[in-house]
Amino acid sequence: MLRSRDEDHTRTDAAIDPCDTSPETVAMNAPALKPPSLGHPHRAGVLLPLPLGSAYDYSVEMELPRGTLVEAPLGPRRCIGVVWQAPDGSVDPSKLKTAVPLAGKPRLPESLCTFIDWVARYTLTSPGLVLALALRTPQAFAPEGSRRGYIRGGTIPARMTPERERVLQVTSDGLARSASALAEEANVSPAVVRGLIGCGALSEQSLPEFDRLACPDPAFTTVALNFEQEAAARTLRGAVASGQFSAALLDGVTGSGKTEVYFEAVAEALRREKQILILLPEIALTVQFLDRFAERFGCRPAEWHSDLSQKERRRTYRAVMRGEARVVVGARSALFLPFPQLGLLIVDEEHEQAYKQEEGAIYHARDMAVVRARIENCPVVLASATPSLETYVNASTGRYKWLKLPRRHGAAVLPEIRLIDLRHERTEAGTWLSQPLRNAITAALGCGEQALLFLNRRGYAALTLCECCGHKMTCSHCSAWLVEHRYHRKLVCHHCGYQTALPHTCPQCQTPASFMACGPGVERVAEEFATMFPQARMAIASSDILHGPAETQAAIRAMEKHEIDVVIGTQIVAKGHHFPQLTLVGIVDADLGGFDGDLRARERTFQLLHQVSGRAGRAEKPGQVLIQTRNPDDMVMQALASGERNAFYDQERLYRQRAGAPPFGHLAAIILSGADGGLVRQAGRMLAKAAPSGRGVKLWGPAPAFYQMLRGRTRERLLVQTERHVEIQAYLRAWLAAIKLPNAVRLTVDVDPVSFF
Ligand code: ADP
Ligand code: ZN
Repeated sequence: MLRSRDEDHTRTDAAIDPCDTSPETVAMNAPALKPPSLGHPHRAGVLLPLPLGSAYDYSVEMELPRGTLVEAPLGPRRCIGVVWQAPDGSVDPSKLKTAVPLAGKPRLPESLCTFIDWVARYTLTSPGLVLALALRTPQAFAPEGSRRGYIRGGTIPARMTPERERVLQVTSDGLARSASALAEEANVSPAVVRGLIGCGALSEQSLPEFDRLACPDPAFTTVALNFEQEAAARTLRGAVASGQFSAALLDGVTGSGKTEVYFEAVAEALRREKQILILLPEIALTVQFLDRFAERFGCRPAEWHSDLSQKERRRTYRAVMRGEARVVVGARSALFLPFPQLGLLIVDEEHEQAYKQEEGAIYHARDMAVVRARIENCPVVLASATPSLETYVNASTGRYKWLKLPRRHGAAVLPEIRLIDLRHERTEAGTWLSQPLRNAITAALGCGEQALLFLNRRGYAALTLCECCGHKMTCSHCSAWLVEHRYHRKLVCHHCGYQTALPHTCPQCQTPASFMACGPGVERVAEEFATMFPQARMAIASSDILHGPAETQAAIRAMEKHEIDVVIGTQIVAKGHHFPQLTLVGIVDADLGGFDGDLRARERTFQLLHQVSGRAGRAEKPGQVLIQTRNPDDMVMQALASGERNAFYDQERLYRQRAGAPPFGHLAAIILSGADGGLVRQAGRMLAKAAPSGRGVKLWGPAPAFYQMLRGRTRERLLVQTERHVEIQAYLRAWLAAIKLPNAVRLTVDVDPVSFF
């Protein structure tokens, strides 16, 4: 259902657009850098990290600047909150509770507070929920602990041994060290150190809880850049030196040296004593990255992601806040760290969907990185071999600098890409590796090289169905088929994780052993491969087989060390990795993008297949990519085979432009969900009815979401599309403010949605 609206919701001066970097908008959106005066000296508006409507008034002992962390009572609880704004003043003073600054009066930087407000406004999330992203590590504000350290004591030990002498030798510089550090440096057992402590030859001193972080050295190694790399690096160094906001797309084929080039910008920011944030889409990519960083800068950067221990988080958070952590490499949540001197932001693999946070505060870390850079008034660099269409448009219209690296560095050349037309190259029923692909595998293995077979589907088969009655096994909580995982001997729902054993008889027609697998999954391709190449060392790489980042990294290492000949994997193997011996990539089913019904379906298929192809031939040995498809004439396949990437992008851009789709218009999804389906559908109708009319606004829905049922909750979707000049947030705010939904129905707003399920 499509309706056009009349009333005008054109952009007001509150217009916000993360991609809009024209000087006027920058000025318009420029934060009030002066902390707001807090009116009554003994009152403050304190924001709590909770999904509340706004800040609450508290009484405070003295005037506290915005950003000051306080402990504030809320009902029976005590929370950490932040002095945020001038008090509302309407609360009776006698009813006010008192908030107390934390010991040492730690304070979030003003720019972070501005950023939080901005994100909240743009995503229609309560500011408290966004603040919660910045306060996930409250232990960081506790008074710093201490460790015991030891220096040379007054006593000379009665009995001297070579070990004891070594320890005392180490202490001769007068620096305090922990007992374990002493033992390690002197290469003695801990007992030797304990003995020296016992006899008074070492005396105790208090050490800070953590050693200082090492500072990356911009001149640790230098790299001779090639001509294009140098040109791009020069631009980026200049951007850093200017100390002003700018955005650049570093657009280079895989292996062209994008990382090498943005490291030059990092070095420049280090020389200027700035902090640097590098965002990566996935934790699994960080280990290789940390080592590489250390090779260039002499030490590892600080890390920030969900896999850190509490202690590591506390250490890093504090070090960031003090300005001691100079370079942080992290996942999207690192955007909310309290950098006091941020001088450069880098978003690597900027097109990755993993940058979109889909739960809680829903935001796109790539777009918000641009916003944070603008607030910090520093450059942001977006790097990719296959940029998002949004970024491509910003680069081609000159809003972003467009830095191009068209060649692989050194001897490495781009792989040869060939399409295999599955309509002609038939495979036997239940098999998926065509003859040309098999031949190529044989050849690669024959030369002692490695191969990667890619299929974007986990598990054994796409679906499992009864041969007699056609009954399909579906999830009881979601409207999705269950996927057979032979490896774990289970049927699994890929949405909610529900698992069950494959029944012996069909629940519908009672025929025993009637279930058969339809279509390929990585496990099934692996089975086929193993029968065909029994000698080859093979590993499956998919998220349900490799549990967590540690196992994924172990698999990557095994591949690097050539302990594996062939990897058969899903998209977790597509990205970033560099395997010098990998010369063959086979894409088992290119038509299986899995992004149907999605505005970005083609773009994503292209990006994914291009990324996978980029794994081939990254070193001296040339690579080859074979793409099995039933649609060899499709623009996506043609662009991949011919390497005419921009022709494909320009066509996609035209489609989007005609449809008024992002970035040529704005889009927001509203999802209603609840356990009671009838209630959810009713709420959807009510919501649609209440939608204000507006010029340049289109509304679709309510309609059942693609997955109508997820985790036992029924889901209805509405989609709002507006023309570019309309401020979609203002429209949504006006609409939703007038609505009261039943408590049992949850409403989620997703501005700039990337998932249409
Ligand atoms: P990208 O990030 O574009 O995929 P990388 O920066 O990872 O490319 O570079 C690919 C490989 O080429 C890396 O091993 C890198 O060290 C090497 N490389 C790139 N540029 C240079 C250079 N100028 N000198 C030496 N090695 C380089
Ligand atoms: Zn399910």
